[in-house]
Amino acid sequence: NKYWTIKTHIEDAPKEDDFYLKNSTLALSVEPGSKEMIVKNLYVSIDPYQLNRMKSSSSSQKTGGFAVGITPGQEIEAFGVARVVASENPEYEKGNFVVGVVTWAEYSKIGSNGMIRKLDPMGFPLSYHVGILAFSGLTAYAGFFEICKPKRGEKVFVSAASGSVGNLVGQYAKLHGCYVVGCAGSKQKVELLKEKLGFDEAFNYREENDLNSTLKRYFPDGIDVYFDNVGAEMQEAAVANMNAFGRVAVCGVISEYTDSGKKAAPDMLDVIYKRIKIQGFLAGDHIGLFQDFISTTSDHLRSGKLCALEDISDGLDSIPFAFAGLFRGDNIGKKIVKIAEE
Ligand code: NDP
Repeated sequence: NKYWTIKTHIEDAPKEDDFYLKNSTLALSVEPGSKEMIVKNLYVSIDPYQLNRMKSSSSSQKTGGFAVGITPGQEIEAFGVARVVASENPEYEKGNFVVGVVTWAEYSKIGSNGMIRKLDPMGFPLSYHVGILAFSGLTAYAGFFEICKPKRGEKVFVSAASGSVGNLVGQYAKLHGCYVVGCAGSKQKVELLKEKLGFDEAFNYREENDLNSTLKRYFPDGIDVYFDNVGAEMQEAAVANMNAFGRVAVCGVISEYTDSGKKAAPDMLDVIYKRIKIQGFLAGDHIGLFQDFISTTSDHLRSGKLCALEDISDGLDSIPFAFAGLFRGDNIGKKIVKIAEE
């Protein structure tokens, strides 16, 4: 069995050669009650937060037990869809599709307390269950509806808007009757947001030198909701342009992950006088919304009101390039690696 690991901790932007392939032998414990399984990985999720787990400073304490640090040489856990190939767990049998925490590997061993469940594809491609119908989708759904509490007609700004979470936030916001502007890092992405995903406006932040005036141009009447995926100067400019009682959902700060010197420092007087609410959140805290999220999202997918934007690379070998690409802006939509045929 081949799996990816890191050579040493990664402190800034990841590169392909920060990773190497290792071999392992997987064997099931046949002790009665072992409940172990071996699964063949089919699709795995490629997520920016993994970088924070690869840093030397990463610890379960810092992330509240959510994303524990990765030790060089160890397997790298990731969300994915797989097929059971051997099972000592009476609830699962060979051939079952499962979804949950696997590893960046050909095969993964799932322990008795593995975070995995049986998957009913519900007629959707299996890859949807790694992104739009899984954590990326729940992040967008919970972050937008629960944290931002949007009202019809409000003005919404979303950064990393062509990414996995961002594109969905924009699409949910349009379905909710909001005015939506997104920013992304290329002309092609900006066109896609406007032409294919129905954003009212979009801009390429790389071509703007003064983000504050850029946002004034797109929001002459101010921003009501900012869904922040990037942090740093974009967050500062967004807060400067917020309306009274505006809400900022801090979903992620990707521009700070690769640059430890970079930190958002929004003007706190603005926050006070405009009574702006800035709230971080973790999708995992909103698992109670999962059924609601799945039924709304799958209905919209079936009726064609929601578009699933996926960016799938082929083969286990492509994982380091796919992962490093997140921080270069290579991906358009949910970044997934297909490891094996169904
Ligand atoms: P994306 O699919 O959005 O991929 C990352 C994108 O971020 C890139 O394509 C790139 O697009 C953009 N980006 C990369 N570097 C920078 C930079 N320096 N400045 C600005 N933009 C940059 O990833 P996800 O949708 O999976 O994640 C989006 C955010 O949400 C991340 O910050 C992630 O950590 C966070 N997250 C939080 C969760 C939570 O529970 N709170 C759960 C899941 C994700 P571009 O071309 O626009 O630059």
